[in-house]
Amino acid sequence: MASPLQIPLQKLPEWGLWLDQAVHRERVAHAQMLVCEDGGMAWPLAMDYVGRLLCAQPSVRGACGTCPSCIQLHNMAHPDVHWIVPVIGGEGRGDDEDTCAPFLADVRTFLGQNPHPLSSDWIEHLGGKQKVVQISVKESARIQRLLSLKAHSGGHKVVVLWMPERLNDSAANKLLKLVEEPLDRTLLLLISHDEASVLGTIRSRCQVHHVKPVPTGVLSEALVNQGISPEQAAVLAELSGGQPGQASMLLRNREALREPLQHFVEFMRITYKKDLVGLLAFSERLAKEPREQQKQWIHVSAQLLSQLLRLRHGALKNSLFAWFPDVAFQPDGLARLLDESKHFEIQGLLQAALTDIQRNINSRIVLSDLGIQFMRLFAARK
Ligand SMILES: [Zn+2]
Repeated sequence: MASPLQIPLQKLPEWGLWLDQAVHRERVAHAQMLVCEDGGMAWPLAMDYVGRLLCAQPSVRGACGTCPSCIQLHNMAHPDVHWIVPVIGGEGRGDDEDTCAPFLADVRTFLGQNPHPLSSDWIEHLGGKQKVVQISVKESARIQRLLSLKAHSGGHKVVVLWMPERLNDSAANKLLKLVEEPLDRTLLLLISHDEASVLGTIRSRCQVHHVKPVPTGVLSEALVNQGISPEQAAVLAELSGGQPGQASMLLRNREALREPLQHFVEFMRITYKKDLVGLLAFSERLAKEPREQQKQWIHVSAQLLSQLLRLRHGALKNSLFAWFPDVAFQPDGLARLLDESKHFEIQGLLQAALTDIQRNINSRIVLSDLGIQFMRLFAARK
């Protein structure tokens, strides 16, 4: 198996100052939250930051990578660093009951294989698609205990918590106490993909950092190192919305693109024909899919439409359709229908729909409304 996709952090210079603070152990806020799209750079940044904070001989270039602390951290076995992830309740005994402690080996393997993990992959890994995957109040109590232990290395004690949006209410309230009354030399580092669903009082007491998408040029370059052609890499980098975890998923599983592509073709056909009944059925069906899939569909549609515009201008020879010759669609026909002003409007509509879906607005309504707007646009063309 190819080694995981790597994005060198030097290519993201906006993080330099923050990472340096960990080296100098200056202004290390005790509660911080990285807000990031699923599959983005939050995990590698968190790992690097913690590495710098605990390394015995850090330099301006970062953690040394060879001291005992660095090696323990690399193996996710540092006694002062704890990893908290949402799980299905009911596992474990005593203090570990309903916590992620029994899953530590899984967490290590999973993160080892997925440096930019997708929450949906973790949930699938747990077999939890139909179950409640959350962080329990017992977990918050465990975090309190872990942070109050004496640090083995005499430095910081760290808890990295993935998906604070999945803390249940009592867990969030218990964790809030820890955020409000921090223990000495502790760092609680939260990684969220859904900032709006994190308890407001926790959010407001954290130092919040928003993690931007990786520039497509940087991501394409990293993808080329995975052995694919620069053209394919550019398509993937765009389709993933600059999120390396999404790009690796698509690279691993090209077939994952087939469904959004077919949905795109269907949606275009329905809206072009002004088939209202078809649109309602389509929206109903897509709204039943997980929210991640709906977002993926919008990303793919937005990218396909950009590709079609570039096809029209001869700036692109192949679109994603070239990867799936069995999907019946004539991209040239649709490309001829698109001009810049319509394209601009369409991208705006897709972006608005994406925001609405992220904000948990009823997807069925968002998608059918999107279709009606497309119908209006196509009608205005004639
Ligand atoms: Zn070190």
